[in-house]
Amino acid sequence: MKYVSTRGEAPVLGFDDVLLAGLATDGGLYVPETWPALAATDLKRMKGMRYEEAAFKIMRPFIEGAIPDEDLFHIIENAYAGFDTDTPAPMRDLGDGLWLMELFHGPTLAFKDVAMQFLGGVFDHVLSQRGERVTIIGATSGDTGSAAIDAMRGKHAIDIFMLHPEGRVSDVQRRQMTSVMDGNVHNIAIDGTFDDCQDLVKAMFNDPAFRGRHNLSAVNSINWVRVMAQIVYYITAAAELGAPDNPVAFSVPTGNFGNVFAGYAASRMGLPISQLLVASNRNDILTRFFDTGAMAMGDVYATLSPSMDIQVSSNFERLLFELCHRDGAKVAAVMQEFRDTGRYDVAESALGEARMLFDGACYDDDQTTVEMHRHFDATGEQIDPHTAVALAAAREHRREAAIPMVVLSTAHPAKFGKAVEAATGAVPALPDKVADLMDRDERCTSLANDLDVLEAFIDDTQAQNKGAA
Ligand SMILES: *Cc1c(COP(=O)(O)O)cnc(C)c1O
Repeated sequence: MKYVSTRGEAPVLGFDDVLLAGLATDGGLYVPETWPALAATDLKRMKGMRYEEAAFKIMRPFIEGAIPDEDLFHIIENAYAGFDTDTPAPMRDLGDGLWLMELFHGPTLAFKDVAMQFLGGVFDHVLSQRGERVTIIGATSGDTGSAAIDAMRGKHAIDIFMLHPEGRVSDVQRRQMTSVMDGNVHNIAIDGTFDDCQDLVKAMFNDPAFRGRHNLSAVNSINWVRVMAQIVYYITAAAELGAPDNPVAFSVPTGNFGNVFAGYAASRMGLPISQLLVASNRNDILTRFFDTGAMAMGDVYATLSPSMDIQVSSNFERLLFELCHRDGAKVAAVMQEFRDTGRYDVAESALGEARMLFDGACYDDDQTTVEMHRHFDATGEQIDPHTAVALAAAREHRREAAIPMVVLSTAHPAKFGKAVEAATGAVPALPDKVADLMDRDERCTSLANDLDVLEAFIDDTQAQNKGAA
């Protein structure tokens, strides 16, 4: 499989180059040159199949030749060995045709583990084959950092430096990062905000000497391999509920649009999806887009569902590329307009096309709390605030009652314990595997919000690593 950039100017690359590149050189995102077709007979056979086997069948055409079959199968097996449940995507029947797909049974209690654990194995494999090493640098406000650290810990070809804003992530989220003691994991608390951390990361990537010296790489949500790994659970869920003969709908709590884009990709592969409901919190840029066809940036508000506190959904560019009928020059022009003015409008026909599949809906913190409370009252089960946004959307905006709708549950309630406790009156318990999290030792370096200081720290750390090796 070859991959093309959404902006049409970057070189066409194979799977492993796309994995390591992250962003394309023209500023675009990589997408597969064609969407592989899912055969109806294969889809039928996936009902009841082990998740790992289905994942192998679904992802193989995207990887085609870049990783030998046997190695790919091992990477998938290892990725999901650390989940608490038989499958990384168990489904729970809520009645009335609503289903909850729980994607949070991985090591860091949020759905990002499903793709990140796989990505870690793929990185390690490809780098070992090529005899290369990379330094992964990222900024996190919570979920991404812990998922990335857990996925990369102990991998020989990788060092990971993760920046978080000192004192501005929850105790659980910080400890999930700083209690990892592997020598290749480096946590840095920056005296600043999340935006400061992100600016520092961007500045390091824009420093050619530094970037070259450390062979920098990123694992943020624009990495194609993360999107690809998320396609799998849309397909396994649909197969469980009667695809290919019967259609299925999904409600997805959305931030960067990576997760719901994977649903779109599954539909392009031939999965009969009748509706993709894009659920947002008060940061409602996507809801407004699907209502009006205008993508117009607003302020970012802090909410109970912080992993969706985003105004610019970076993965949306992949959908825009399809809505522009894969005209890269057009996408480049639209994205330039967005950078210049904070707004763009798509044609009526493009909006119409998007609306055949997508709807948007948004819920503020009060409505989110009401939904957590309602669900607890009705079932005795706690759900996290991100999941509550998607469940509220599903109950109000499902198009057809006769078609089952799967709500993606993206975080364990204990990960956002304060909000869940406030809504339900009960403290959600941390799962056994992390029950001692609050007693573990922590390792973290505090640094000023200063590029020179940060680069010097990374230079020194890596020089010591080389000395030790
Ligand atoms: C990251 C995240 C989301 C948003 O997913 P996107 O792929 O960015 O749309 C939703 N819920 C939780 C708990 C997350 O960590």
